[in-house]
Amino acid sequence: MKRLSILIAALLVSACAAVRPVSTWSGPPREVAITFDDLPDMTDDEDPIALQEAITAKLVDSLRRNRVPAIGFVVEEKLIDDTGNPDPRRSALLQQWLHAGLDLGNHTFAHTDLEKVSLADYEADILRGEQITRALMATRGKAPQWFRHPFLNAGDTVAERQDLDTFLTAHNYRIAPVTIDGADWIFGRAYERVMAAGNTELARQIQDAYVQYLDDRFAWYEQKSRDIFGREIRQVLLIHAHRLSADSFDRLAATMRRRGYRFIPIARAVEDPAYRSPDTVVGEGGVSWLLRWGMSLGHVDGIFGGEPATPEFVTRAAGPLD
Ligand SMILES: [Zn+2]
Repeated sequence: MKRLSILIAALLVSACAAVRPVSTWSGPPREVAITFDDLPDMTDDEDPIALQEAITAKLVDSLRRNRVPAIGFVVEEKLIDDTGNPDPRRSALLQQWLHAGLDLGNHTFAHTDLEKVSLADYEADILRGEQITRALMATRGKAPQWFRHPFLNAGDTVAERQDLDTFLTAHNYRIAPVTIDGADWIFGRAYERVMAAGNTELARQIQDAYVQYLDDRFAWYEQKSRDIFGREIRQVLLIHAHRLSADSFDRLAATMRRRGYRFIPIARAVEDPAYRSPDTVVGEGGVSWLLRWGMSLGHVDGIFGGEPATPEFVTRAAGPLD
């Protein structure tokens, strides 16, 4: 009996070790909120619904096992079928997130770039983009509270940004900033193409590069935080919901834990005083809030220097871009 309990204890330890690797970081605890854009599936154009279901199930399962209170930002256009009506199987993908206790936010209906439309059209697209999500969340007594700007474009002018902020507040939305931009969409696209072609060896190389690339980006943004704030702020990571993130999230979570991170909800991240820093940068779509705060505080020269880049073979595998 004793040997059996020792065996069980050993198995438990190894099971925990698989999900919770020991941190190699000895500094103060690090915190990160994990956010996914372009739900339910960034590469839905190429993925049959059965594959989207498998991708979502795998990602949600990994988030649950790794105890990550993640939020996913929905592009509701992806839920519409060829006849222009909501497809229940696609809406059910969002139910998987809600069922696991995860949060959902608004990412506009059509992944609209504020740079390309009027503010009035953009605001209409935000409201159009919440209808299915709001109805699904209401059945659980919840409502969408967070908004993520597509392309991280928050406004071309100070006035436009303020008007949009006022609109969002009036509709009970909070802006979901990004401090660590995973910039992983091209990896997701490359992996999807390579997997669809059955090239599992190249897919494995893309996955390995992806995990390393995100680890490198964490290191780069941590240094930015120390340069700008003299400390490491609570971070908000942006990555995308796609086959690659679903297949890799266990490894990503292990990498983040090794860096000393614990996973927090976005609401806790934005309580960090850094998130109240001035942001005077406009017309800079695609820029992390951490860099915006840095530039607003006078760290302009070389702020983008040394940013980890996508390896050439990944860009090639992604094929011609739209
Ligand atoms: Zn997006």
